[in-house]
Amino acid sequence: MRPHEKYFRIRPTAVILVIFVTLALATCSKKPQTFITGTTHSMGTVVNISIYSAEQTADLEQLYLQAVQAMEEVSAHAAGFRQGSELYDLNQSAGDAEGFVVSPILLDLLLKSQEAYQLTSGAFDPTVAPLVSAYNFAYDSKTGEKSTPHPLTAQQVSALLPLVGFSKVLVDEEKSKVYLPAGMSIDLGAIAKGYAADMACGRVAEEISGVMVEIGGDIAIRGDKPDGEPWQVAIADPRRPQETLVELLLTGDCGVATSGDYERYFEVDGIRYSHIIDPKTGLPAHYMVSVTVMAPTAALADALATGIFVLGIEPGLALVEQLPGVEVLIYTEEDGELGAHYSSGFEKFLADDEDREQIGYSN
Ligand code: AMP
Ligand code: MG
Repeated sequence: MRPHEKYFRIRPTAVILVIFVTLALATCSKKPQTFITGTTHSMGTVVNISIYSAEQTADLEQLYLQAVQAMEEVSAHAAGFRQGSELYDLNQSAGDAEGFVVSPILLDLLLKSQEAYQLTSGAFDPTVAPLVSAYNFAYDSKTGEKSTPHPLTAQQVSALLPLVGFSKVLVDEEKSKVYLPAGMSIDLGAIAKGYAADMACGRVAEEISGVMVEIGGDIAIRGDKPDGEPWQVAIADPRRPQETLVELLLTGDCGVATSGDYERYFEVDGIRYSHIIDPKTGLPAHYMVSVTVMAPTAALADALATGIFVLGIEPGLALVEQLPGVEVLIYTEEDGELGAHYSSGFEKFLADDEDREQIGYSN
């Protein structure tokens, strides 16, 4: 997932909105539906929103703007590299024995991050931030521009590793206070986009039939389309991200997120080192090409995709098999060939036989 951290204001003129009204034919059993779909920017990346209603009177444009607003709120709290965001200020408080009072949004994100940290045995760990910065994977705090990543020496890595470990951060839920040890900092880039997609869906879900929000490839879905058709979600080819590798058909509430080595990386001796850091070794993970997770929420899918990218194939699959409502599709690469690995329930979400063939499924 390509972050996140660069901040864009909502520019209503840049929002492309398309409203369709579909009236069911008298002979057709499908229910009538109205929908709005649009593209904009939030959290430094492209956002697509589709909202469906069975009510012809629903003010879909207004709901669309509410969904965008929800994402902007998450960005204002969670974009850690951006000066002026709440997370930036929390990071500035490192070492302060008084702790830092956090907003309900940031508290919720940190508690969800703690859950993901525990679930993945520490593979998902937002305190990798000092390493992310040292490798130059971080974004400039003022301009939001990307910089050029580079390797670190073994000495540089071992000097920073003591600053990593989410268990060293105290999150006091009752007092809404966070105590961040000196020198440590937090990067929520691996969960914030999924969380923002969930928030955007949640903001409008009550008033409509179904909504899908995609933010930089991470997707949240709430409800269904009135005509009963499933939601179609395309998984990009990790080596040709403009092209679709497989298509999923989904219904109901869920999230889908992908972590890949193709977003930000550097190469040494032909090996690609990604922007996802193994918190135990301090080294960029390089065992997989992409990890796509389906989960009950997009925040969980986002965090698990990053964590599994670090964990590796076998531990990643074993973890997913234990988690209800969670599936995974992992791609590795050997001699230029992609290899698919997937959890036991993944295949039933594939759109057709061509997709099953693509992942090498046989029953
Ligand atoms: P994603 O694209 O969701 O996998 O998130 C990747 C981003 O999360 C990186 O650009 C870093 O900012 C941050 N990150 C890197 N490694 C980790 C990790 N092991 N756990 C949590 N966040 C990480
Ligand atoms: Mg993630």
